Order: sequence, then structure tokens, then C-alpha cells
Amino acid sequence: LTHRAIHSGFVSFHPGGKMPLGLKRKCLRIVVTGGAGFVGSHLVDRLIARGDSVIVVDNFFTGRKENVMHHFGNPNFELIRHDVVEPLLLEVDQIYHLACPASPVHYKFNPTNVVGTLNMLGLAKRVGARFLLTSTSEVYGDPLQHPQVETYWGNVNPIGVRSCYDEGKRTAETLTMDYHRGADVEVRIARIFNTYGPRMCIDDGRVVSNFVAQALRKEPLTVYGDGNQTRSFQYVSDLVEGLMRLMEGEHVGPFNLGNPGEFTMLELAQVVQETIDPNAKIEFRPNTEDDPHKRKPDITRAKDLLGWEPKVSLRKGLPLMVSDFRQRIFGDHKADGA
Ligand code: NAD
Ligand code: UDP
Ligand code: UDP
Repeated sequence: LTHRAIHSGFVSFHPGGKMPLGLKRKCLRIVVTGGAGFVGSHLVDRLIARGDSVIVVDNFFTGRKENVMHHFGNPNFELIRHDVVEPLLLEVDQIYHLACPASPVHYKFNPTNVVGTLNMLGLAKRVGARFLLTSTSEVYGDPLQHPQVETYWGNVNPIGVRSCYDEGKRTAETLTMDYHRGADVEVRIARIFNTYGPRMCIDDGRVVSNFVAQALRKEPLTVYGDGNQTRSFQYVSDLVEGLMRLMEGEHVGPFNLGNPGEFTMLELAQVVQETIDPNAKIEFRPNTEDDPHKRKPDITRAKDLLGWEPKVSLRKGLPLMVSDFRQRIFGDHKADGA
């Protein structure tokens, strides 16, 4: 008898939310590492709304209590301040492993991807939980194939300034598959492409948060390099839907989860100007080392096997993030009128 069976009483979850009439799904116990962060906190909202019990494990390296505070007092919610680089004992059915310093400004200093992932896989093995790794499009490096398909092995510099992140996630994928093959752990791998939305870190240096904060503060938008490099930007609710479908489905992956709409950084700056301030200036800055020239997901696999595709375009999603940023930058009173 596995721990999963013990915890959840043999009841399986129906991804589309459609339960056979008269059957009530038992509540699952789910760990979300990094659950106080940007993506994690939105995922936690969905899991709690669905009626599950959620344990957030976070060391607040880049996450914030404010992102999950609205669940304080809910008996289905627990928050543990813990660094996943240290072992952790819990009894759970599912592990969404998101803990990781995701921005280039932060990730250079941290072994979370390797040691943290190993610990969470050890936990999954011990209690028979299903483990989902949030990997990244960065595993494709500066890709020589466009768009990127899951079968592409990538073009990554193993000793570059970004390698702690991209090689770290590649190692995390390797560990995940090793535990799957060697220890029979049920695993899922998502390769997430650039995601934006409310609760994103304001000052962590990512392009969407930088441009939005700059436009709101009446500062110039800083375009690195010539601005012709491309990225594909996904709204956070689309990602969370994809992660949940992946966890509940039958396929290990890896799955690309991203919005195939591809924009140059200059085009993104233009959308930000249209959305926030048509008079916002653009300022060119030198680009960082090893910056990938282009990135765009091929999401055929996720469409076919998970029945998933993004629904929110950049022009629809950006305004949803702007009101949150306005509130956090200026405080409530300006948020309504400004
Ligand atoms: P985020 O920085 O907002 O969230 C990460 C969370 O992990 C934070 O709350 C942070 O405090 C926590 N954390 C970091 N190190 C930890 C540690 N050692 N122990 C415990 N908690 C720790 O970032 P995000 O954008 O929400 O990213 C979530 C996951 O998705 C990450 O694994 C990231 O690599 C992946 N991802 C995100 C994007 C994106 O565009 N947002 C793209 C690709 C992959
Ligand atoms: N681990 C953990 N929680 C658990 C079980 C394991 O944090 O509930 C950690 C454990 O401390 C180890 C890692 O996960 O560092 C890998 O565990 P595993 O049992 O796979 O390897 P072993 O301890 O046998 O090397
Ligand atoms: N970038 C930019 N201005 C900024 C921040 C980033 O032009 O203020 C560029 C960066 O050089 C990269 C792209 O935007 O080409 C995406 O950067 P981000 O750090 O958001 O994501 P990643 O490189 O991880 O895809």
C-alpha cells in the first residue's frame, strides 16, 4: 500500500474538474516548494480553491509572505519557512517543486536546483508521492533549433554565467528521470517559458517586470543589446493550468509550457508603451553574456497529450499585471486613479 493510497483514500482526480455524478473527490495533501513566489502562489490559490490541503515550503529568498497571506487562518493551508537544500520530512501525495531563484540577478549564488531537487525526490521516494519538476526553456540554451521541441537537447555553455541556472535545471531533470527509472518515483517535468503576471518580483531584473515598473515610474525602458532577441511570454494563469494538467495526467514529459507568440524586446517595449505610457523612452544598454538570441516553444506535445494551450495573449495579459504593479509601487491611493 503506497502512502498516496493512504493519504487520498484511493480516489483519483479528474483533471477537467468533471467528476462522475455522486462521487466526491477526497482532498489531496500537496507540497508546493517555492509556493510563496510568483508562480507558486498562483498555483496555491488554484489548489486551495479546488479543496486540497496545501503545504508551502519556502525560504523567502525571492518569495514574499504577502503572496500567500490571504490563506492564513485557512486550516487547509500551512506555511513552512525552510531551505530545500536541507532535508525535509513530510507526508504528502504530490510535490510541486518550484523552489529556485529564477531570476539572473539571484540564481548565481545558489545550489538549490541540484541539492534541493535531490532532497524533494528523496522525499517523494520515501512517501510514494508524485513529483513535478518545474524546469525551464533555458535547458535549450542558445538554441540552434527554432522553435524548440522537447526532443531538442539544447546548446548550453557549461561554464557560463548562466550555467548555475540552466545546467542546474538540466541536472535537476537528470535526477528526476533517475529517480523515476531507478526508484520508480512517479515524476512529471515541465519546461516553462518566460512567464509574467501579478505578484512577479518587481526588481529582480526580468524584462517584463523591468519594463512595466520603468514605464510606471516614468523611467526609460532599458533594452539590452540591439533589442532584436526574441522571447515568448506566457500569462501566469495559463502556466498554472498547464502544471495542474501535467500533474494529474499520465505523461512524464518533458512538456514545453509556454505561449508560442514570439516578440523581440523592442516589440515588447512597444506593447508596454501602448499599455502604460506611449511617451515612455527607450534606452539601450549592453547585453549580458550568453544571452539566448531567440526562444519560442513548440507546444504540439502539450496540446496533443494534455489538451492544453495558452489562452491569454500578451496584449490581454499585460494590463492584468499592470494594476498589481501600480498598487505595489505607488500604494493603494494612486492605484485607482493613476
Ligand atoms: P520566484 O522567484 O517568484 O519563486 C521561487 C520561489 O522559491 C520563491 O518564493 C523563493 O523564495 C523560493 N526559493 C528559492 N530558493 C529556495 C530554497 N532553497 N528553499 C526554499 N525556497 C526557495 O520565481 P517563479 O518565477 O515563481 O519561478 C518558479 C519556478 O518556475 C522556478 O523553479 C523557476 O525556475 C521556474 N520557471 C519560471 C519561469 C518564469 O518565467 N517565471 C520560467 C522558467 C522556469
Ligand atoms: N530526503 C528528504 N526527505 C525525505 C527523504 C529524503 O529530505 O523524506 C533527502 C535525504 O536527506 C537525501 C535526499 O533526500 O539527502 C535523497 O534521499 P534518498 O533516500 O534518495 O538518498 P540517500 O539518502 O539514500 O542517499
Ligand atoms: N532584457 C532587456 N531589458 C531588461 C531586462 C532584460 O532587454 O531590462 C532582455 C534580456 O537581455 C533578454 C530578454 O530581455 O534578452 C529576456 O530576459 P529575462 O531575464 O527576462 O529572461 P531570460 O533571459 O531568462 O529569458
